[in-house]
Amino acid sequence: MKTKSSLRLHCNSVLALAALLVTSLPLAAQDAPSGPYTLPPLPYAPEALEPHIDAETIRIHHGKHHKAYVDNANKLLADQPELAKLSPVELLKNLSEVPESIRAGLRNNVGGHVNHSAFWLMMSPNGGGEPTGDLANAVESTFGSFADFKKQFTDAAMKRFGSDWAWLVVKDGKLSILSTPNQDPPLLDGYTSILGLDVWEHAYYLKYQNRRGDYASAWWNVVNWPYVAELYAKAK
Ligand code: MN
Repeated sequence: MKTKSSLRLHCNSVLALAALLVTSLPLAAQDAPSGPYTLPPLPYAPEALEPHIDAETIRIHHGKHHKAYVDNANKLLADQPELAKLSPVELLKNLSEVPESIRAGLRNNVGGHVNHSAFWLMMSPNGGGEPTGDLANAVESTFGSFADFKKQFTDAAMKRFGSDWAWLVVKDGKLSILSTPNQDPPLLDGYTSILGLDVWEHAYYLKYQNRRGDYASAWWNVVNWPYVAELYAKAK
């Protein structure tokens, strides 16, 4: 026969076990891969790009916005085992074969995943300055000078109404600047992007509010030119 104290002990253990289950279940669900894509870790600490891009913006941009693109894409692919086998880039290149009911959703969310995965790597705490070598020569011969390139790129980032990206791209070995709406990556039009600037408001609003131009100017201080040069060498 159980004494009062052993019963209490038993109850406490059951409660503790229940509490453990309740607290660990949502965590387990969060950690388990729920689809083909995963959020890549940031290649630096969130505060590493300050003062040009603030830590809170990076935390929310990566941990909430980018994560939402990954989660939404995974949800759309949950009952699409064949599409889920493709890499994000392969999927975007074959959008015409995606069922129409999920095509726009995948274009936006897989596009967002691909664009942001590249964007984090195109910035660095040791960034800024100017490109060197082959890329510097190509920038100069295509746009006149590095200063002219920066001006044209910034114009592209500023002029489109709504949410967009500005890009430095390569096609047939040639550099050009373009902007794309929403989360459309340049690869949809056959371009290889080597540098991209996210000019969605979520990329700058906490620090810069409506001053998109100030954000675009500050961003040059964190551009990871050695990485951009690597992408250029591969693309041309
Ligand atoms: Mn973004």
